[in-house]
Amino acid sequence: MQCCPFCGWPDDDPVTTVSRHRSASGVTVWTRCICGSLQTRILRGAVMEVCARSRLSGHPAATL
Ligand SMILES: [Zn+2]
Repeated sequence: MQCCPFCGWPDDDPVTTVSRHRSASGVTVWTRCICGSLQTRILRGAVMEVCARSRLSGHPAATL
């Protein structure tokens, strides 16, 4: 299972869904992690893939 490289939050449990819209390749879902990192996910059927992840902005570095 993948998790956020900044805070270790599991990708399977998105904290905040920012937006969701259909595209040619599936459903694109933007989520924001508990640490503030924005993620782009593509939903293909039942499989949700994280395909992009922003860096943190204005947040202290997570300690792992
Ligand atoms: Zn995070």
